[in-house]
Amino acid sequence: TGEPVPGDTARHRLTVVSGPSGVGKSSVVAELRRLNPDVFFSVSVTTRAARPGEVDGEHYRFIDRETFDAMVANGELLEHAEFAGNCYGTPRAPVDDALRAGRPAVLEIELQGARQVRQAMPEAQLVMLLPPSWGVLVERLTGRGTERDEAVQARLSEAERELAAAAEFDEQVVNDDVRAAARRLLDLMTGDNNLCDES
Ligand code: 5GP
Repeated sequence: TGEPVPGDTARHRLTVVSGPSGVGKSSVVAELRRLNPDVFFSVSVTTRAARPGEVDGEHYRFIDRETFDAMVANGELLEHAEFAGNCYGTPRAPVDDALRAGRPAVLEIELQGARQVRQAMPEAQLVMLLPPSWGVLVERLTGRGTERDEAVQARLSEAERELAAAAEFDEQVVNDDVRAAARRLLDLMTGDNNLCDES
């Protein structure tokens, strides 16, 4: 079987986690952070207003539209998308630095962004987080209380679109238990069992 090909070992170093709004991505990613502090978590930029409790530079970098457009124009974003009326993007440099340093990296982004990463970095692993059921998702989204009604509606229609694309992802993980989902995700990122040996 010989020496590992350099590209092979880096195969799954970048993991994209997508899934409909309300599926619990943030909780799962937070648990993943606890399980493995070595993992690099990208901090996105967004034009969305901060929710109560969100810290600038930690949950997101909250920026205005002009700044966002400038970052896009300068090629500073690895991917970017508009979601429910706001712009979101992944700053490229920190991800590159982490990967170069050999750290596994996670992007928690929506579907259009995941597709851009797929194009730009075919070696990335795409994981979709699924709700146990559609009803659970609707409940979580309507019960969150942080968004206006129209915003909830927008997120529900985006959710339908995202779920319909599940087959485009390498892996699907059902979030019926935050801890179990985080463990499964970590397995997918670090475990060898899921690496198809193509050599
Ligand atoms: P929220 O406003 O609820 O924090 O995020 C809305 C959606 O945008 C979520 O699906 C989230 O994963 C996604 N998102 C967050 N950051 C980024 C990003 O940098 N790029 C893309 N494409 N989506 C993002």
